[in-house]
Amino acid sequence: EFVAGHDPEVSAATAAYKDPSKPIRVRINDLMERMSLSEKIGQMTQIDRSRATTDVMSNYCIGSVLSVSDSVPGQKPGDRTPHNFSSRKWIMTINKLQEAALATRLGIPMLYAIDAVHGHNYAYRSTIFPHNVGLGATRDPQLVKRIGAATALEARATGVRYVFSPTIAVCRDPRWGRCYESYSEDPALVKLMTETMIAGLEGDIPPNYSIKGVPFVETGHRTKVAACAKHFVGDGGTSGGVDRGNAEMPWKELAAVHLPPYSTAILKGVASVMLSYSSWNGQKMHANRRLVTGLLKTRLKFRGFVISDFEGIDKIKDANYSYSVEAGISAGIDMVMAPYKFRRFIRTLTYQVEKGIIPMTRIDDAVARILRVKFTMGLFENPYADVEMGRQLGSQEHRELAREAVRKSLVLLKNDGPLLPLPKYGAKILVAGTHANNLGYQCGGWTMQWQGQSGNNITQGTTILSAIASTVDPSTEVLYSVDPSAELIELGNFSHAIVVVGEVPYAEFDGDNGNLTIPEPGLTTISNVCDRVISCVVVLVSGRPLVLEPHLLSKIHSLVAAWLPGTEGQGVADLLFGDWPFTGRLPRTWFKRVDQLPMNVGDRNYLPLFPFGFGLT
Ligand code: BGC
Repeated sequence: EFVAGHDPEVSAATAAYKDPSKPIRVRINDLMERMSLSEKIGQMTQIDRSRATTDVMSNYCIGSVLSVSDSVPGQKPGDRTPHNFSSRKWIMTINKLQEAALATRLGIPMLYAIDAVHGHNYAYRSTIFPHNVGLGATRDPQLVKRIGAATALEARATGVRYVFSPTIAVCRDPRWGRCYESYSEDPALVKLMTETMIAGLEGDIPPNYSIKGVPFVETGHRTKVAACAKHFVGDGGTSGGVDRGNAEMPWKELAAVHLPPYSTAILKGVASVMLSYSSWNGQKMHANRRLVTGLLKTRLKFRGFVISDFEGIDKIKDANYSYSVEAGISAGIDMVMAPYKFRRFIRTLTYQVEKGIIPMTRIDDAVARILRVKFTMGLFENPYADVEMGRQLGSQEHRELAREAVRKSLVLLKNDGPLLPLPKYGAKILVAGTHANNLGYQCGGWTMQWQGQSGNNITQGTTILSAIASTVDPSTEVLYSVDPSAELIELGNFSHAIVVVGEVPYAEFDGDNGNLTIPEPGLTTISNVCDRVISCVVVLVSGRPLVLEPHLLSKIHSLVAAWLPGTEGQGVADLLFGDWPFTGRLPRTWFKRVDQLPMNVGDRNYLPLFPFGFGLT
């Protein structure tokens, strides 16, 4: 039985907001009438777990808590490899904060958030799915829906109810460090995946969800997780692919290329939308009232809540904090993520409301939106995480699903001979390259750590090398060397070589890259090996297309784009040895030279190396 907080009047079982049989609209109104200004502003505040003591939770009536990779529950600060991980520890930490939230006067539950962008990627032992660029290559929206549902279950297995996913950016320039978080350069393909990913994460919405064309879930209990479409809007269209940069383009282009996935997300009833750090024609999105309130909330009828990006409110205007708060909240931000000094944020906003600088109606709009999400997902009735759910984390079923996703995401770019599939019997195979036996590299950024990690003990999974070794027949010999010497290759008398190289993990601005070459020593390894064996397969592990000079390409007999496949390397071996056919198709244009960028499908002067949609079978 749910027992509300300390106010005797409120804990009377008669309070309408506590009655799940009442329409959500009635519950919201009833609760808001009882709330003080400070309780309302508390609901609008999301703080990092490292600051969320039980006292803070109850003193400020905090609406939401987030974990970044350095503040996941049960992990000591600076502890980079959480071998002592336990989902029970997460759940207990989160439930404790929930207890504090529920002990407040009105007993409003908090929402616990995390970046779960390719599976529940900060939880040790979770299933890590291919990053979005790989999912775009599958062209399989139903698969993406199942991945969303699995991710929701794994998040809930640790008590998390809110995920900052999906990224629905339309990446138009692969020099952008977040290109791999984007499904495609093509708005139509991004739309397709947006639709099913949100349905997978949040659960399907009841058929009667729409009132006069407005998505509205009256009594539905979407008990999975709240999703977050990000980053509104134009994040994938900044000049030069600079992260947090400026999208310089006319309204027509913004509306035609970057906006369509948001209409889809809204129709799917997405719980929240995160604003982009970037600007549009010089104006910060975090302060763009016309686009956030005018377009998103009013014209597109988005009914969830708008969340800022991390410390986004602090970044609006340097050295002018009150202006930043006023501009951000007036623009339409409903929840602020991790304001640098949250007490200062609360103080500033309180002052501005009391002075009439920000109207109370703006605060009420924000709080109603946040509460609507909490009521809709059944958080008031079901605020605690269940330790039993821990079994979902990294389950065999989810790993099988990830393996299927890997199989469907690989794109075969070249296959002379045809060399692939390779024989399993009686062969002698050389496996080489920095990415053949490195689970961290295979997973990319946003894996255990924000920037990703290197090595095989970062979490559980199968490397491409071990997958190859377990796929071939015992009559085949597999020899592995990261960077084999000329002598080893020449004396080895190999029937085939598989070279696995690519990008080293990165996230956000750290991944901005103006030259997009295959990083060394990868390039050298390809030449070394492919110059000396009869049959040379190259598997490229990368978040985006990379430059393939003609002389390099001519040495490679078979070339596979594997994107960032995640923990289930077995899916790669399934294709190399013919247990499964290649079906993936390029979700992006494979350019020849960086001076062609940006170059996207539909452009005039479209002269790619491999066009959008290309993929051998
Ligand atoms: C990123 C967001 C992310 C947030 C929280 C920001 O730096 O831009 O995509 O959700 O951090 O980790």
